[in-house]
Amino acid sequence: MSAKVYFLETKDRENISDVIERLEAFLKKSDIFSFVSKKDLVAVKTHFGEKKINGFIKPEFLEVLGRFIKDRGGSPFLTETSTLYRGDRSNAIDHIKLAIDHGFTIEKTGMPVIMADGIHGDEEVEVDIKGKIYNKVKIAALLSKVQGLVVATHFTGHIVSGFGGTLKNIGMGLASRRGKMIQHSTSKPKIKKKKCTACGECIRWCPVEAIDYKDGKAEIDQEKCIGCAECLAVCRFDAVVYNWSESYEKLQQKITEHAMGVSEIMGDKTLYINFLTSISKDCDCMGTYEKVMPDVGILFSNDPVAIDSASLHLIEKRSGKKLSELSHNIPYRVQLDHSVDIGFGTVDFELVDAD
Ligand code: SF4
Ligand code: SF4
Repeated sequence: MSAKVYFLETKDRENISDVIERLEAFLKKSDIFSFVSKKDLVAVKTHFGEKKINGFIKPEFLEVLGRFIKDRGGSPFLTETSTLYRGDRSNAIDHIKLAIDHGFTIEKTGMPVIMADGIHGDEEVEVDIKGKIYNKVKIAALLSKVQGLVVATHFTGHIVSGFGGTLKNIGMGLASRRGKMIQHSTSKPKIKKKKCTACGECIRWCPVEAIDYKDGKAEIDQEKCIGCAECLAVCRFDAVVYNWSESYEKLQQKITEHAMGVSEIMGDKTLYINFLTSISKDCDCMGTYEKVMPDVGILFSNDPVAIDSASLHLIEKRSGKKLSELSHNIPYRVQLDHSVDIGFGTVDFELVDAD
């Protein structure tokens, strides 16, 4: 059976106030917030962006979502989880400060920021799932205490998962710190000594102090490494290498199974929204931003798999290229294929014009 995916088409770089006007018109006439009841606590999950990068969904859009949740009597708040890697998002305090710097203030969005996994990212619940890799996954604890979840995702390419959509935003983005570590544990990079300039950047960013100098070059302790790929991202000299054929597929499957865990907790009290605007080669966690194609629009669905499936379809239709040609040349549909394998959601969608 297919799932409905509503599609609000936008022009490339369309004025934000024009898009918001059309978004409000769609939300007024649709019943996609009907799952919100009076007094429901509703978590609005998004990504607050990385320092100096502004591909993330603008706070003005989230204000609209929050307003419609309030109109139904719900109490919305913005939420996120800590990252594995060091930086401005690795604990709740720094992360909330970054969110405020990027405009996610209560004045602008009408919603406070409450982290889903506690101050250190270690507050979690174990959720039973019928996956092929796991029968339990570790999800941010806050989800077990709310009555609704809205996930607003900036859709991008991704260096390891092929694409960053709803599945990645909830599978990795709503996993607890331990849940994230478990997902990354199969992919461990190595350092090519000849290329290493000993700049030390990877040592600074490694979240578990797995890298140190040996004979004047960086070296990874494979026992300590949790496979987070942070060193790969920060090395400017192509000295960090991954065995992609072993790693990308497993990671994408693990992301999908954690997404299934989120879906198990929330049931049908969810709404997923993909913003196919400012689509970039890499996800919003990276320190660089490169727009790779014209904007497509905004998608809405109650099915986390169908919305990503529809997003890839529309991206390929608009750009005339596969996402792997626009982003990183790795197999990129594993999350969808694995969803089919484990009976999670549906890749079949019915596109409904939201205008
Ligand atoms: S970032 Fe790259 S070049 Fe710099 S120390 Fe690490 S591996 Fe070597
Ligand atoms: S060495 Fe391992 S844990 Fe450290 S940054 Fe690289 S992938 Fe992550």
